[in-house]
Formats: sequence, C-alpha cells, structure tokens
Amino acid sequence: MLAELSSEERRAGRTAAAARGELDETRFESLARDGSCPHCADCRTGYDWSFLDGVYCISLRSRPDRAARAARELHRVGLCSQARFYRPDRDHELPARGIWESHRTVARHALGRGLERVLVLEDDVRFARWIRPRTVARVRRALETLPADWRILYLGHLPLRAYPVGLGVLRTRSGCAHAYIANRELLRWLAATPFAPVAREVGGMVGRGIDAAYRAMPGAYAVFPMLAVQAPVTSDHMATGEKPIRRLKHLITRSPLRPYLLSFAMRPAEWAALMLSPLWWWLEREERRA
Ligand SMILES: [Zn+2]
Repeated sequence: MLAELSSEERRAGRTAAAARGELDETRFESLARDGSCPHCADCRTGYDWSFLDGVYCISLRSRPDRAARAARELHRVGLCSQARFYRPDRDHELPARGIWESHRTVARHALGRGLERVLVLEDDVRFARWIRPRTVARVRRALETLPADWRILYLGHLPLRAYPVGLGVLRTRSGCAHAYIANRELLRWLAATPFAPVAREVGGMVGRGIDAAYRAMPGAYAVFPMLAVQAPVTSDHMATGEKPIRRLKHLITRSPLRPYLLSFAMRPAEWAALMLSPLWWWLEREERRA
C-alpha cells in the first residue's frame, strides 16, 4: 500500500512538473454546486452560454474570499456549470508577471483540452444586474458578426478608443483583462509568449502587463454596453507596506484606490469613447494608411 505523500513531497513534485512545462491540474477546480442556484439544479433557465467552449476564472489560492465572491457571480449568471477556477500562487516579486503567467497558463490548459473559444475572467469580475437570457444571446450574436481576424471580445473593459462596427459591438482599444472571450489565435499567441519580452515593450498608462498587451493588439472588439466591470475589491497585487503616495501616476496605477477608480470609471469611459467614436474611427483609418 502506497504511503500518502507529504506536503513537501507534493510541492517538490509540482516544482519538477512546472520545470518540465507541465500544467498542475490540482490548480484547476470546478465550482462547488450551490443548492439555491437554479443553474446548478439543471433548471431550464435559458442562460445559454453553449457558444463558449470553456470558462476560466483566475483567483489566487491565497484569496478564498475573492474566489467565493466570484463563484457567486458565476452562479448568478449561469456560468457555474461550465466554469473552472485556476488558483495560482501570488508572484510576490513581480505581480504583473504573475497575472500574465496566470492568463498564459489558462490559455495552455484550454488549448490542451482542444478548446477554441474561451471566456477568461479574473476574480474581481462583477456582472451587470440586468443580465438575462436575451443578454447572453446578444453575446452569441456579437460573436457571429465579428470579422474573421478577431482575437478578443471584451465583456468588460476600460475603453480608450472605441467605435461601433455593428449593433451592440465596438471595435476597441481597451485596458483591463477581467472579462474577455479569446479565440484560438489569441490562446495560441498567449501560450507561446512568456511575460518578459512583450510586456516590457507595450508598457503604458493602462498597466504594464497583460492588459497593455491586449490594448496594443489588433482584432479587439467589445460587447456594448459592457456586461461586466471590475468590482472594487481589495487587490492582492498591491504590495503591502508601500511607501507613501508621492506622484499622481503612482496614485492611479498602484494605490489601493485603483480598484475603486477603475470600477467606477469603466461605464463612463465607455460612453465617452462612444461619443468620440467618429474621432477614433478617423484616427484608426489614418493609422492604417500611414
Ligand atoms: Zn450554479
């Protein structure tokens, strides 16, 4: 009879597997059933997300409170049966790298399962209260109208430039990566792209990590109006014991106020971008000509 592995032996095994580039399946967790959730009870609720091949929600293993909050959101909008959590450890040295590698691991896992259209969420996602079956159907229709070269469809984002390209669909350059549908091309690109080389090139005002890379990426679209914002929950990526805030940039990008600023800025930013959409349309046309 095999003796049970000690925690040290399990940890050593995981480290060796990671060194070989293998995924740690113990980091992927299905959602626990909720007896009060009609979607878990297999009722015909009409929330048909079957156009997605997979749903992942990234949540640090050290933050069960955030995972529990995200699970309630997933149950509420009917994504609970499809979704699985990815529970990495925090990258204390470089949080942006940790976030990047989490999204990358999800992409590798999805590709390994043969998935081609995947919803990727972060655990601070907050879906709109008005989501109904017809809202979900609208996402399906948006996907059907996207041009062949699309890579990403945001369900939630911080639009910097956006203009309509169809009913309820925006062409966009956006920050934030808390709720997006990735296609196979994006998954393959992400799986093949470690943090360092790209992230340093695309640094900018909307972070220096995964969201900045997506902002620079062609083929980005968004559902309008957005279905999800970032909840103003305490971030685990803010270093504890940070030095006092001295500069405005620091205030915006690293302070504990950032989740609140982002959460409340997303919908006004969407409308502002839409009002300026003729300008963004013209700018993009000029950039293509240049
Ligand atoms: Zn449920």
